[in-house]
Amino acid sequence: MAVKADMHMHTTFSDGLFSPYELIKKCKQRGLSIISITDHDSVDSFPDAIEYGNEFGVEVIPGVELSALVDDKDVHILGYFVDYTNPRLLEYLEFFRMERVKRAERIVAKLNSINVPLKFEAVMERAGKGAVGRPHIASAMVEEGYIDSYHQAFERFIGNGGPAYEKKFQLTITDAIKLISSSGGLSFLAHPGRYTTEELLHHTIKSGLDGIEVIHPSHQPSHTAYYRGVVNEYFLLESGGSDFHGGKKNDDEVLGNFYIEEDRVNMMKHRLFSNNSSHK
Ligand code: AMP
Ligand code: ZN
Ligand code: FE
Ligand code: FE
Repeated sequence: MAVKADMHMHTTFSDGLFSPYELIKKCKQRGLSIISITDHDSVDSFPDAIEYGNEFGVEVIPGVELSALVDDKDVHILGYFVDYTNPRLLEYLEFFRMERVKRAERIVAKLNSINVPLKFEAVMERAGKGAVGRPHIASAMVEEGYIDSYHQAFERFIGNGGPAYEKKFQLTITDAIKLISSSGGLSFLAHPGRYTTEELLHHTIKSGLDGIEVIHPSHQPSHTAYYRGVVNEYFLLESGGSDFHGGKKNDDEVLGNFYIEEDRVNMMKHRLFSNNSSHK
């Protein structure tokens, strides 16, 4: 049987519902042997998550999901095999998280000005130690009874261009990729099917991208085929995963069903190895 690797998932260190320990236990139950935890703007689950992985017999690859801004679009870059002790990386991630707190405050102020009396404390309580994001705000709005559903919160208030929308601090694609590579990692364009034009795709490839997330729950079979073609054409690496957060609609069905096979992970390791040898 194929060795399954899910290279995209979130824990309580960002906007996921489960702690690293709970998540890894679930992954084991779903037949995953290799995973990458890719919290937004945080690598704080490591090294503990790797240790829990050893306990369950799951290889845990350190990862992170960064946000970059391209032509007004929020583009996500996944970094794999990053050195989670790299001081510069940690400093940047802390800065992004602080900016997220300020932005959450601005969103709450906008909501308050349009008669949604959500409290900032309620949002921060949901975020706990995690990088605060709009998912925490949406869940807090549902919990406090200001809206019927998580998705409605985005549709009516906090979605892109909505009346309570606020931008977060974002790097350029080039800087996001540089930050990952200077931390020893490989960068991948996350769920390109959500936003990518051909122009953006080529810009990202030219910025030094290592690979593309070909497999993702938001991708139609046509997306998968198209991005696999791009990967082959430009000698890039292929990744894929569930983007599991826990607790969202249909979320539980994705874990174990969106994965790449072990040989793809080995190709990433070979690329890392040759990057390291060529620098010496
Ligand atoms: P943030 O990083 O705070 O901007 O939050 C982005 C996250 O919010 C994404 O990763 C999605 O999980 C979620 N999200 C963004 N737009 C929507 C939407 N229209 N409906 C539901 N969830 C969304
Ligand atoms: Zn998320
Ligand atoms: Fe994402
Ligand atoms: Fe994600």
